[in-house]
Order: sequence, then structure tokens, then C-alpha cells
Amino acid sequence: MGRLVVVSNRIADPRKPAAGGLAVALGEVLRNTGGLWFGWSGAIVDGGTPGDGDLHLQQAGPVTLATVDLCREDHDAYYAGYSNGVLWPAFHYRLDLADFDGQYFDGYRRVNRLFARRLVPLLRPDDVVWVHDYHLIPLAAELRAAGCSQRIGFFLHIPMPPSQIFAAVPQHEWLTRALFAYDVVGFQSRTDLGHFVEHARCSAGAKPAGEHVLEAFGRRLHARSFPIGIDVDEFERLGRGKEAREAFLTTRTEYARRRLLIGVDRLDYTKGIPQRIRAFRELLAHHPANRHSATLIQIASPSRESVEAYAEIREELERLCGALNGDFGDLGWMPVRYIHRTVARRRLPGLYRAACVGVITPLRDGMNLVAKEYVASQDAADPGVLVLSRFTGAAEQLAEALPVNPYDIRGTAETLQQALAMPLAERQARHDALLRRIREHDVHRWCADFLEALDEPFAEGLAHARRQRRRAALSPS
Ligand code: UDP
Repeated sequence: MGRLVVVSNRIADPRKPAAGGLAVALGEVLRNTGGLWFGWSGAIVDGGTPGDGDLHLQQAGPVTLATVDLCREDHDAYYAGYSNGVLWPAFHYRLDLADFDGQYFDGYRRVNRLFARRLVPLLRPDDVVWVHDYHLIPLAAELRAAGCSQRIGFFLHIPMPPSQIFAAVPQHEWLTRALFAYDVVGFQSRTDLGHFVEHARCSAGAKPAGEHVLEAFGRRLHARSFPIGIDVDEFERLGRGKEAREAFLTTRTEYARRRLLIGVDRLDYTKGIPQRIRAFRELLAHHPANRHSATLIQIASPSRESVEAYAEIREELERLCGALNGDFGDLGWMPVRYIHRTVARRRLPGLYRAACVGVITPLRDGMNLVAKEYVASQDAADPGVLVLSRFTGAAEQLAEALPVNPYDIRGTAETLQQALAMPLAERQARHDALLRRIREHDVHRWCADFLEALDEPFAEGLAHARRQRRRAALSPS
């Protein structure tokens, strides 16, 4: 059986629990195949040469971690410029925030070419290569140009915008052609897949060539939706851990007389946090019984702070939270606890469990894993209610959550009220259905489904090896 080679902008040491569910799932397959994980080292070299960067190799058990340094100019154009200043806003439907004049595109191509140059000598003929996310759309085209004929798949973790929005990105035709260098392209939701198929048809004349298969540029591409999940077992284990239990007890004790609502996000303009604060304000204004009782804990983990749009949203949030606490709070009750810090993953299950409403209201989100983590952390006997934006990939799967349109502040406030007032039996029924779905579509299934589409014999080999290990573990020695 061949090796799995994962390529992503940043890599994680799969042995470390802080790495998260994705790293756990990929780490398992990487370990089982003695695989390779390749990406940017995170180092920015001042004075380095554009298009050049040292390669570092490191062993993490059976897994090889390979990373490349970037010079300042490459980092600014490839990462801050084109990936996060153009593709991120445009793919989240925010053309108003996309910096199309920035001249970053050459740097984006240059770094993808550099990654391909560093990766090619490490590849073996029977490797299966899985590339992740918008930073690396042209990587397969660069690998193909260097003669690679391995199976190469791509998964887009962020939304795929409708054709009319994607067409506003000046390089959209080039990006579409680049995607056809892959064998499989995966999306988070059926909506995203529909947008891609429509765009490929309109702008590249792609023709259907079988179930999930499109043909264009003389290549056949398998395009499908593979909604990503969390590692439910790993998250439940974290929930039983010391730090999560401590977080739960401290929060419950401190807020013994309150009903908690919780939001946990990276501080990003896509997450709809200002709209959420406004909706909470509406709730207090129109349902005064919640005053002195409802408290919103908003964790906003710092993110991309050097980018102007992020500094602006931070200021807006501080203003909104300050005004809300000033207008409604008193000596014994602060309506919003806004925390601009990252909370360790190990503590999060305790915080989620202490809150009777999970408020997940992005304006646009590829999936949103926090929604799934909130459900997985609840006490099944007395579960909280998930309020979920209809503009997340998660909403396509999690039909038993209470859906909201985050742009509709008054409507969101009414849904928060409905969540706070929901009877126990209904909460239990909704939670039970949500948990079953989250368990069924966990991150391991996502990984297996994608790899099966990419290379069926490889996926069968993995499944066979797993069955053998399980048998060996069960048989008496
Ligand atoms: N997260 C965390 N600490 C924080 C905030 C977030 O560990 O303070 C984690 C959270 O548990 C989740 C991930 O970061 O696993 C966020 O994933 P999501 O899909 O919700 O959003 P993204 O940040 O990828 O857009």
C-alpha cells in the first residue's frame, strides 16, 4: 500500500492533542502509512530570495514532517496578500473587502511553484497526495508540470461562492483550470459543490461525464461534497479531562444565578459577531425577563491581526460590548463577557457544557466545527440548544438546530428567546438527533470517504489494515 502525503499551508504534529480533530484524523492515516505532511514552516526569513526557502525534515514517530521557510516578500504576497486578502474575503462573498489591486498573484504562484519544487524529490510513485485549502489551489498544476502522475486530491475548507461572485476574482479562469489538474476536488456542502459545477460549466465549458465527474481542459475531475466532522470520541475524552471539568465547575459556580449563552470564534469578519451582540441586545430590550439572568460569553480568539479589516472589527466589537454593558448592566450583572483571547481546546468542552445556548451565527462559514463541538459537549439528560446560522455548511447537516439568518437581528433575538424557553423534552429530542448525525459523519468518515474517492484500492488497503489491527488487539496473545 502507498503512503499518504498531506499538503497544507500549516502542519501540525499529530501527536499533540492541541492540534485538533483534523490533525488527529489525518495523523491516524499518516501514521498507518508511514506518511508525509508537507507545508510552510511558519518561519519568515527577512532578506531571503523570493521563490526560495530551506526545507526542513523531522520525524514524528512514523510520520515525516517536511516544512519550507518563506522570505518576507513571498509571505506577504502569498499568505497575507492573495490567500487572506483576496481569496478569503471573495470566497466568503465579501467582495467589498477583497484587495484586487494588491499585485499579490505572482507571489501566490511563486510560492506554490516553490512548494512543488521542494515536494517533488520527496514523492514516491505510489504516493497518494491530498492538498488542503485555498492557499494551495495551483499546487497540483505545478506538480503535474514537474511530471507527477500520482493521484492528487484537493479539499476546500472554506465556502465556494456562486459563479457571479467567483467571476469577480480577476484570476478566476486560471484558478478553475488549476482545479482541473486534480483528480478529486471536495467541498464542504452540496451548495458549494453546486456553485463550482455551475461555474465550471459557464466559464470553462465543463461537461458532465458520469456521476460526480466533470470534463474540461482535457481532464476528468471527480467533484463532490464531503462535509467535514469532528472526532467525537476525542472531544468526549477531552470533556472528561481535568481541565474541561474545572472549566465547567468554575463557570457554573461563578454564574450560578445566570443562564449562559456562548459564542466561540476566531475574531473574523465572517463570523457575524457584531450582529450577534446586537441580537443579544435586542433580546434584552424586548424580553426584559432575561435581564439580570441571561449572560453571553463571547470568546473571540485573536486572528490575522496585521490585516486592517480585522483591526476594524475588533474596535467595533469593543464598542458594541461596552455600550451593551453600560446600558443594561449593573453592579451585580454584566450582560456580555467578551474575551479576546484563545481558550485552550482542553477547556472548551467544559465551557460549552456550562452554556444552555450555543450561539453560532456566522455570516458565511465553510462548515463551523464549534457548532458540532457544542453538541458533542452537552449533558444528554439536560442538553443546551444550538442556534445556528443558515449560512454555515453545518446547517445543511444539522437540521435539528434552531436556524437563524444572522443579518436579521430581530429574528435572531426571537430565536434566542425560543432557545432559552425550550422545554426539556424538545431539547433532548433535538440533541439526540444532532449527536447521532455528528457521530455518524465524524472526521474519520470524512477522511475515509475522501480517500476512497481519490484512490479506492488505497482506501481499501487502509480499511483492511485497520481490521487486522483490531483483530490482533482482540485476539489472546
Ligand atoms: N478554538 C479553540 N480556542 C478558541 C477558539 C476556537 O481551540 O479560543 C477551536 C475550536 O474548538 C474549533 C476551531 O478552533 O475546533 C475553530 O473551527 P471552526 O470550524 O469553528 O472555525 P475556523 O476558525 O476554522 O473558521
